[in-house]
Amino acid sequence: MKKILKLKKEKNAIILAHNYQRPEIQDIADYLGDSLGLSLHASETDAKIIVFCGVTFMAETAALLNPDKTVLIPDRNALCPLAGMLPAELARMYREKHPEANMVLYVNTLAEAKAECDAVCTSANSVETVNRMKSDTVLFGPDANLAKYTEKFTAKHLIPVPRSGFCPVHKLFSKDDVLELKKRYPEAEVLVHPECDPEVCDIADLVGSTAKMSDWVKKSNADKFIVATEIGMLHRLKKDREDAVYIPAYNQAVCVNMKMHTLEKLYLSLKKERYVVNVRPDIATAARKAVDFVLK
Ligand code: SF4
Repeated sequence: MKKILKLKKEKNAIILAHNYQRPEIQDIADYLGDSLGLSLHASETDAKIIVFCGVTFMAETAALLNPDKTVLIPDRNALCPLAGMLPAELARMYREKHPEANMVLYVNTLAEAKAECDAVCTSANSVETVNRMKSDTVLFGPDANLAKYTEKFTAKHLIPVPRSGFCPVHKLFSKDDVLELKKRYPEAEVLVHPECDPEVCDIADLVGSTAKMSDWVKKSNADKFIVATEIGMLHRLKKDREDAVYIPAYNQAVCVNMKMHTLEKLYLSLKKERYVVNVRPDIATAARKAVDFVLK
């Protein structure tokens, strides 16, 4: 841990970590947050090097917002399967099929796909972003559950792209499991990520991004929470309110990709300045426009 902090100072580096990272990575990060918070932080930092502990699409977003900085990822195999469900060709195909519709893509997409859309959103601002589109029909991807959830709060018609994109981790939560826990802890509030199936969202006290969950527990009078998102979030919530009890809605909801980064890999990443994340300049320019839409 000390070696990492020393190297970080020497190299003028900053460590950004997603809320789903291992506890020890969360504890050493300069900034811990959700995709939107991390993107904003990446665009504001003065550091020369950004070490990004998250999945590759997040590090790509940091790279395209910071063309003059070095963005590193400790393990380049940390891929997001949801992002992989929407290759750029498929996004283009949908655009050709629905030329009248704007396209909004969740930040969980590869830079090549982002370059095809009008705006990038996060789970924290999907409704607002869709409402800002000019067309009545909006192509929305790659998470079909987030598309369904967003559509409930807007007058627009959303076409999921692809038809049934999903996060394999959030698919693990079930309504029955949550109801069972509710029976055991009737006083607990239920926090659910919108990537979960609609029937799980329907029984939640809060449906929201990890940042919204974090705000919620700080303000809530409850002292027990059933949490339906990746298990790493429980460590984050404990930092937000130590006195509360957090019950995982499913204790095997682990994103193995997020957990690929370890302290050792983080140290080596800083020491050897590997693995550098680059985005092709033409793709970066188009994708940056779509990301800027939501950041500005
Ligand atoms: S939790 Fe799901 S959406 Fe998030 S990085 Fe893992 S696979 Fe991708």
